[in-house]
Amino acid sequence: MTAINPDIIVIGGGLAGLTCARTLHRAGRKVFVAEGDDDIGGRIRTDRADGFLMDRGFQVLQTAYPEARTALDFDKLKLRTFDPGVVVRKNGTFQLLADPLRAPRYFLHTLFSKVGSFADKLRVLKLYYYLQRQPMESFFSQPDIPTRQFLTDFGFSHDMIQSFFKPFFAGVSLDPDIEASNRVFKYIFRMFASGEAAIPENGMQEIPRQVASALPRECIGTHMRVSRLTGNGIQLTDGREISAGTFVLATDALETRHLLGEVKPLSYFTEHCLYFTADRPPFSHSMLVLNGDGTGPIINFTVPGRVSPGYAPRGKTLMAAVVIGKINTDEGELRKKVTGQLREWFGPVVDQWHHLRTYNIKKALPDQKPPQANPLKTNPRIRENVYVCGEYNSVPSIQWALYSGRKAAEAILGR
Ligand SMILES: Cc1cc2nc3c(=O)[nH]c(=O)nc-3n(C[C@H](O)[C@H](O)[C@H](O)COP(=O)(O)OP(=O)(O)OC[C@H]3O[C@@H](n4cnc5c(N)ncnc54)[C@H](O)[C@@H]3O)c2cc1C
Repeated sequence: MTAINPDIIVIGGGLAGLTCARTLHRAGRKVFVAEGDDDIGGRIRTDRADGFLMDRGFQVLQTAYPEARTALDFDKLKLRTFDPGVVVRKNGTFQLLADPLRAPRYFLHTLFSKVGSFADKLRVLKLYYYLQRQPMESFFSQPDIPTRQFLTDFGFSHDMIQSFFKPFFAGVSLDPDIEASNRVFKYIFRMFASGEAAIPENGMQEIPRQVASALPRECIGTHMRVSRLTGNGIQLTDGREISAGTFVLATDALETRHLLGEVKPLSYFTEHCLYFTADRPPFSHSMLVLNGDGTGPIINFTVPGRVSPGYAPRGKTLMAAVVIGKINTDEGELRKKVTGQLREWFGPVVDQWHHLRTYNIKKALPDQKPPQANPLKTNPRIRENVYVCGEYNSVPSIQWALYSGRKAAEAILGR
């Protein structure tokens, strides 16, 4: 049983559920968060081992997320930022593409890079200004077409799509074919173009922890997996029952459907994230490396240990290689293939690297193919006393987890 007698139970202690609970608590409501796992954070968890901080899957916080700017205290998170640009691995070379306005020192590298044509580079600028000029809400009422088609219609060459947009957006949406809705693409591209990609000094889980810190300890319970809604309460998998007047399902999309008794199938994309350590990183900048060749398992590679020194013990660095899509080999074979590709990229120095851990995140992100709902029009109230929140039905991201959590709370509060 809970220490308090809650009016409202939030099922799920991910970012959406915690945000919902925090808003309700601040409004003076008695709220309890029942989290099924051993800690809060949901899909934003960080493990600490031997002085390394390993996020469960490579993730970044975009400082331009409108909801994050009001819901989070960036200073307290001690955000560390990536350099504004990417490095594309293509035809045996590394090509740098940077935003000429924010990183003018890389202007010539970008102009003469062998990724796409000169016309493609001008089109990137056109896309940038096109997206900046429009109110973001308008993205969700524009035609809902697959991103690949949008990019082709916008005039980008096949080479530009394959060697830049595909690894960039597949790494974000986890959809290897970039068939995700162009609304998702536009939103995310605008975020990357308007702000910085950042990680908290002490790991991504600091984000849900910061939200949870506004709640009294006794308002959050872990190891409390809900098996069903009972009408006036919830039943946990260990048989315990807790009653309350109102419920918020802040679980992932599939679990929410299950708890609501719906059987509609839902597909998810997977991510494998392999962490390595070495004495020093293979390059001197803090940019994301994209696989522009389209061959080999890796979609992107980063050095979180360079972006935030908190991610690795003194004298060591931490590196992450991300693989998406279906993997037909076991973990050992995947590691061999990834290490082989890294050796091809960075040379024999990779033989000195040490593999730390591989995360296999099976339900990382829901499929975001069109049609997608307009997240600004989603009603969080499902039944008389049942509400939902979560990043699904939107652009699966920190932005929409925070937004949907606040919106569900405001619906309960009748705002
Ligand atoms: C690998 C990966 C990379 C990502 N990269 C980015 C990125 O770079 N930038 C970005 O903005 N977003 C990124 N995201 C997305 C972002 O992490 C999610 O959108 C966000 O964390 C979702 O929050 P949520 O609260 O909606 O759901 P969740 O985090 O899934 O929270 C749901 C919670 O409900 C709990 N739960 C489930 N069932 C039950 C039950 N029956 N009883 C009790 N509790 C239950 C779960 O344990 C979990 O804690 C990434 C996600 C992943 C996995």
